[in-house]
Amino acid sequence: SLPVVAIVGRPNVGKSTLFNRIAGERIAIVEDKPGITRDRIYSKGDWSGQSFHLIDTGGLEFDDQDQVIEHIRHQAELAIEEADVIVFVVDGRSGLTATDREVGLMLHRADKKVVLAVNKLDHLKHHEDIYEFYELGFEKVIAVSSLHGTGSGDLLDEVVGYL
Ligand code: GDP
Ligand code: MG
Repeated sequence: SLPVVAIVGRPNVGKSTLFNRIAGERIAIVEDKPGITRDRIYSKGDWSGQSFHLIDTGGLEFDDQDQVIEHIRHQAELAIEEADVIVFVVDGRSGLTATDREVGLMLHRADKKVVLAVNKLDHLKHHEDIYEFYELGFEKVIAVSSLHGTGSGDLLDEVVGYL
């Protein structure tokens, strides 16, 4: 069976947009509102002759922040169980958050292979915004713009390198 790649991260960082980029099909629903995408959507990805299953996580809407954090924690646990490689997505525009740190700690504790995607870096001048995310302690940190598609090739090179 194919290896599994899971995309995790807090709501609205661009997980589903990245998922659609990688899957090459518009399977997940991406809207301008956070939390609109369906929960846990599977697809098949392909890169450099390597096929893999791709999981988009998250997408439920919650009233309060505690529920959001509990949901992200649950999705991260599932991803840790199922995935061979995790793409951990953060929002390069909004900066590092406490929830990012918490998810990062979970992934470190589980000793998973992680590629950190610092998303929403749409322009070269934003690329220096990746540096604060090195604090999360992951070796592979890639600047991407899921909107424009830039960086997704570098990201996939790292993902496939781990498979
Ligand atoms: P998710 O909740 O993590 O799945 O995030 P979505 O993929 O639904 O995206 C949330 C919002 O961020 C949407 O309005 C997207 O259009 C926007 N977005 C996603 N990726 C990028 C990006 O690379 N750059 C910019 N500027 N916006 C993005
Ligand atoms: Mg989503």
